[in-house]
Amino acid sequence: MTIPKDHPRYESLMRREKLKDMVERGIVDPTGLISHGRGEAFDYLMDEKSVEPALKAEEAAAAFLLNAKNPVICVNGNTAALCPKEISVLAQEINAKIEVNIFHRTEERMNTIIRFMEDEGAENVLGRKPDARIPGLSSDRALCTKEGIFDSDVILVPIEDGDRAEALVDMGKTVISIDLNPISRTSKTATVSISDDISRALENIRKFAIKMKGNEEYIIETINTYDNSQTRQETINIICFILKNEFQKEA
Ligand code: ATP
Repeated sequence: MTIPKDHPRYESLMRREKLKDMVERGIVDPTGLISHGRGEAFDYLMDEKSVEPALKAEEAAAAFLLNAKNPVICVNGNTAALCPKEISVLAQEINAKIEVNIFHRTEERMNTIIRFMEDEGAENVLGRKPDARIPGLSSDRALCTKEGIFDSDVILVPIEDGDRAEALVDMGKTVISIDLNPISRTSKTATVSISDDISRALENIRKFAIKMKGNEEYIIETINTYDNSQTRQETINIICFILKNEFQKEA
């Protein structure tokens, strides 16, 4: 299907088309389309841009990732489909490992996603041969590798579900979530909750990382002064403000 470039929702419609194609290729599970729809709804409520608290969280995320001993970026079907290149370049910038971890797991789907990530430039993608389990999870999402997710100290989890975010926090990890919904269980649980679209968030984290790399003092100060509850509260305030103003515009 051809979407005219001047369509006001061109970007959004193109992404929907991409996700539809990725379902056909076996990379995205059909339920991933529902997750995406939930994300789009929250993006709409934040004017489809990176709001100020999201930028604060993205800067903190860059600091935590640069300060980590074993940073890992977790990739599921939607993440692979939407941002394969952004994941690869961020991983290189912060020296992080990439591990695929999916809820609807089959060997075939794992291989398809890993191969796709590698074709798009990701190196040494982990996840094919799990040799550890995340405690407290009964689903296949518990399956992981010891060198990657299991032994990570800081983990970036885009488009995550709440159970796994909780299990990772219970393991003592610093969990950085990218989830447009600031009141999801994931956002409530994470150490750093980024309520922004995945593409914008990954690019912003990368830019912050480039800026603060090598400046240890600034990295530590950013970590020590970051307040995640305040950030979440500010995000919710912005959504309320936008909704209220929209109503006043119409009244
Ligand atoms: P939880 O279990 O944390 O309450 P959930 O049940 O909504 O969340 P999922 O259905 O797995 O969990 O959805 C993942 C989350 O990812 C959703 O809350 C959605 O807002 C978010 N999301 C979807 N697409 C994007 C995107 N492109 N960028 C950022 N976040 C997204």
